[in-house]
Amino acid sequence: MTEQETAGLENLLHENRRFAPSPEFSEQAVAGPELYEAAATDRLGFWARQSRELLSWDTAFTDTLDWTDAPFAKWFVGGKLNVAYNCVDRHVEAGNGNRVAFHFEGEPGDTRTITYADLQKEVAKAANTLKNLGVNTGDRVAIYMPLIPETVIAMLACARLGAPHSVVFGGFSADALHSRILDAEAKIVITADGGFRRGSASALKPAVDAALAKGAPSVSNVLVVQRTEQDTEMTEGRDLWWHETVGEASTQHTPEFFDSEHPLFILYTSGTTGKPKGILHTSGGYLTQTSYTHRNVFDLHPETDVYWCTADVGWVTGHSYSVYGPLANGTTQVLYEGTPDSPHKGRWWEIVEKYKVSILYTAPTAIRTCMKWGDDIPAQFDLSSLRVLGSVGESINPEAWVWYRKVIGGDKAPIVDTWWQTETGAIMISPLPGVTETKPGSAQVPLPGIAADVVDDEGRPVENGGGGYLVLTEPWPSMLRGIWQDPERFKETYWSRFKDMYFAGDGAKKDEDGDIWLLGRVDDVMNVSGHRLSTTEIESALVSHPKVAEAAVVGANDETSGQAVVAFVILRGAAGDGGPDVIQELRTHVGNEIGPIAKPKRILVVAELPKTRSGKIMRRLLRDVAENREVGDASTLADTSVMDLIQTGLKDAKPED
Ligand code: ATP
Ligand code: MG
Repeated sequence: MTEQETAGLENLLHENRRFAPSPEFSEQAVAGPELYEAAATDRLGFWARQSRELLSWDTAFTDTLDWTDAPFAKWFVGGKLNVAYNCVDRHVEAGNGNRVAFHFEGEPGDTRTITYADLQKEVAKAANTLKNLGVNTGDRVAIYMPLIPETVIAMLACARLGAPHSVVFGGFSADALHSRILDAEAKIVITADGGFRRGSASALKPAVDAALAKGAPSVSNVLVVQRTEQDTEMTEGRDLWWHETVGEASTQHTPEFFDSEHPLFILYTSGTTGKPKGILHTSGGYLTQTSYTHRNVFDLHPETDVYWCTADVGWVTGHSYSVYGPLANGTTQVLYEGTPDSPHKGRWWEIVEKYKVSILYTAPTAIRTCMKWGDDIPAQFDLSSLRVLGSVGESINPEAWVWYRKVIGGDKAPIVDTWWQTETGAIMISPLPGVTETKPGSAQVPLPGIAADVVDDEGRPVENGGGGYLVLTEPWPSMLRGIWQDPERFKETYWSRFKDMYFAGDGAKKDEDGDIWLLGRVDDVMNVSGHRLSTTEIESALVSHPKVAEAAVVGANDETSGQAVVAFVILRGAAGDGGPDVIQELRTHVGNEIGPIAKPKRILVVAELPKTRSGKIMRRLLRDVAENREVGDASTLADTSVMDLIQTGLKDAKPED
């Protein structure tokens, strides 16, 4: 084994820009440096205190953590709570019933204002309806919906009954829905006639019909929300309209209290690296860490902030940071049904201006897309209400980070780059906005109470300046409790690579200060002449060129170097076609920024990149293309025509030498 191989990954990029929080921001910040000290002194005591302070427990827990059956954790042992009561009722009881829970903005421009008191009634009605349909504690409910308030209400109604939900992203096919219904053996499917997307009504219910026609013996009823009023076929005896059932139900429902470890939901990973995994989360630990992180990472002041997480509720970000974390904290939120460019490319910024959004949480893919569209679009709106900006889903390239801060954040709003996964349930590595001096492109430090490290092949921590694999070295409250119905795959995927450590599957490095930088998936690491190169830094070098908006790099088999770096880039709108020398220019630029070894052998200018429905670049498909293989499982791809476009382009392009 060569030295580089034991060392893990190359550390190529050095970023020197720093942004300290302003004294005014730090002054009013929810989280101060004392949190780190408190957690370091007594980690479990720290979590116990967070849990008691942030949540209402019906029965107090007796032990904070039971790790005797590792890797199957039990947190807040013996405690009982109701998650929906914590997210809704207790805020009404505390006198905050009139506070807005959701400003809903439909894509066609229709709006609804839902207070916590409204939410309480709606959740009670939905819970009563599900109960009448025979949903008991422990039964599973599949939710296949557009992003509308009933989706959140349905999730909370399930939580209220102790019936784990499995939300399936509304953009998925009947096949994907079918396999998820079977996997969970769902008793009820909650759906809508359709939703609005890019200016027109699209149908959802037919996909449910098609899924159930493939055979799903566990399903007894389908509950259908009327969103678009399009013609919808209803199966007698099985399908019920939401407005005729939930609409008529009683607003009174007394919650039961469930064990801290009672299952809350099953959710599938995005499928970026392979077949999606059904991740299981439970109640007390999950709600503790989602509310703790939501409050401290976003500097939430629930009385005054208006918070907007742009993720679809079909992804974990929507679960943890549009539903459970924010609602447990009594937050006022924006919920927007549609796409950023409908009916115009300024729609998001128009919404920020309209509701005076103060905290925005979105994904690098969206930021890069807005960068591509140009600065003049956000410039048309008043974004001065924004005071904290968050990023999640992929590494954010330093250039996109700086753009986000300057153009969206008025050069003053701190950015929190939050690293976490479906499996972790909540944010794990992130700056604290009133404490951390931020570095563009780095998620920086484990949150107080979280233990993470970067290790080499042998599981030894790398030195500062070194690269390797990201691991979590201590159990955490919102950790996954397993893969649904598959304990072996759970152990194998996460707990077998290194002894007593959770293997996240991501490459990372520690910089000279020990701050953590995420480098991309371990599966995507390239081996070029014995150097192990990760994707993120080369992509960031490309994006730092003024003509480039987005980039994806992959390693393709190469006779001389083992693998060669192949890059796919999208140019910024203002760059036109980039000019005749753009490819050479970009290669030279990467060479100058991070060194000759990282220079892409081939660069392809493309119009789009293959992305998952959650907006992540699927490099494994690009690798298939670069190696002239048949393209692998693309079922979670947002737009399948993208692959044909790219393949055609590749045939015409000549390799650079
Ligand atoms: P699958 O596991 O099916 O391949 P997925 O990993 O895309 O899908 P998610 O759980 O939605 O499913 O994504 C988590 C992953 O997203 C992380 O493991 C990491 O690769 C990436 N990620 C999330 N946030 C960040 C961040 N702030 N910086 C870098 N990478 C991030
Ligand atoms: Mg993953």
